[in-house]
Amino acid sequence: MTTYRNFINGQWVEASAGAVIENRNPANKDDLIGRFPHSNNKDVDAAVAAAADAWKSWRLFPAPRRAEILFRAAEMIAAHKEDFARDMTREMGKVLKEARGDVQEAVDMTYYMAGEGRRMFGQTTPAELPNKFAMSTRNPLGVCGMITPWNFPMAIPSWKIIPALVCGNTVVLKPSEDTPLSAVHFIEVLEKAGVPAGVVNLVLGSGSDVGVALTSHPGISVISFTGSTAVGKLVAESCAASFRHVHLEMGGKNVLMVMDDADIDLAVDGAIWGGFGTSGQRCTAASRVVVHKKVIAEFTQKFVERAKRLRVGDGLDPAIDVGPVINEKQLKRILEYVRIGQDERAKLLCGGNRLESGVHRNGWFLEPTIFGDVSPKMRIAQEEIFGPVVSVIPCDNLEQAIEIGNGVKYGLSAAIYTHDVNHAFQAMRDMHTGIFYVNSSTIGAEVHLPFGGTKSTGNGHREAGTAALDVFSEWKSIYIDYSGKLQKAQGID
Ligand code: NDP
Repeated sequence: MTTYRNFINGQWVEASAGAVIENRNPANKDDLIGRFPHSNNKDVDAAVAAAADAWKSWRLFPAPRRAEILFRAAEMIAAHKEDFARDMTREMGKVLKEARGDVQEAVDMTYYMAGEGRRMFGQTTPAELPNKFAMSTRNPLGVCGMITPWNFPMAIPSWKIIPALVCGNTVVLKPSEDTPLSAVHFIEVLEKAGVPAGVVNLVLGSGSDVGVALTSHPGISVISFTGSTAVGKLVAESCAASFRHVHLEMGGKNVLMVMDDADIDLAVDGAIWGGFGTSGQRCTAASRVVVHKKVIAEFTQKFVERAKRLRVGDGLDPAIDVGPVINEKQLKRILEYVRIGQDERAKLLCGGNRLESGVHRNGWFLEPTIFGDVSPKMRIAQEEIFGPVVSVIPCDNLEQAIEIGNGVKYGLSAAIYTHDVNHAFQAMRDMHTGIFYVNSSTIGAEVHLPFGGTKSTGNGHREAGTAALDVFSEWKSIYIDYSGKLQKAQGID
């Protein structure tokens, strides 16, 4: 059994208190993934000190040279894709083809962001006076603290770490307690690719110990957090006290809208994939489907039929469609929402139960669950459940679908299924979400487009694309006067 370590100042080290946390496979509790450090604030102090020291030289390392290291890292992740994906399925349950997709996102992001090492464009602009030059440049901020969830264990750390590094920052990563192994793999790659000691540090442990220590640490310049809205609020409050930059990517209650002219089979495909992919544990999961009354009977019958045929089990088995949920706490929370839905008098159309016999006896498995006759204000249609539970909500027309779609506190992603281009454009304009899809499900993102949400999903920043550079750099405006004499501008400066 492997005991893993933190990575601080270029060394793999035990937690200062020597404590460890065991991590187990959610599809089979008997499968022990490894023992991982249970770190505390002393480990965070050491990691931040190393990152602060390393920043002195990393910020001056030319960006194209930083990029060369990152290109090497991208190649190494690609070379280990299958091993990393298998370990990911073991540690968090998603089916192997989705785990491969997660690793591939890290590859794509690393290649894409490394390219920024030769771009990272600033601006030049005319100056008011003769013989004066004006420009603005991007500058690194310092030590970035990163806190990540378990549902994309390699993609999300890469979406934060790579843009931070290419901009010239140094990093302390605290991944979820549930997925430390994927983070270890990712950091090992960066080490082997040649990232200098102290530039990237990994501190494993719980949110209440490591997470809190990181968000309140005076040596941190930026916190980038992805996780639930409730924890994001605590993170934002902690950062506000010292005006620390904070970037938040949080919960969702995403909607798929099916109009009366939609290709119903295509929409059912989208609802199955959006609702039950990653066992419904994606921030972009389609947990609400709003369907025009003229087609709701046909849609619901086909949707339920398909959901009942989904095979639930160990994600390493290629015949399996839906893996386990992440842990017992999440399983209980999801079952509690099933009870709430029934109490609210939504109609349970399929699923709703834990699977716990035979091949399912050792894991956290749930039946794919669909509620019909859901009204938009029910708790199951308002709150993020984060499991394989979908609410089908009827509507009369597009305007009502949009009103229902927007009628939640979150704003990550939305989709419409229609053949009417006017309806597609109207919904695209009026849905208050950060991501929108036409005739495609609510999930799936490409690394060169901004990713993030509105309202209680995000605080205005975006990951991916060049938008990520705005999180990890700040602008400096520079004026150069080469006239050699005092010049007076008009007006007030
Ligand atoms: P949590 O909010 O529970 O945890 C996220 C991270 O924060 C974990 O590393 C956790 O540590 C840490 N943490 C917990 N408490 C604190 C604290 N007080 N201070 C600092 N850090 C803390 O989310 P989950 O891991 O359960 O992930 C699921 C959530 O993430 C969902 O709400 C989902 O929508 C959201 N998400 C959003 C995305 C987006 O782009 N908008 C993308 C992916 C997920 P630990 O758990 O190890 O104790």
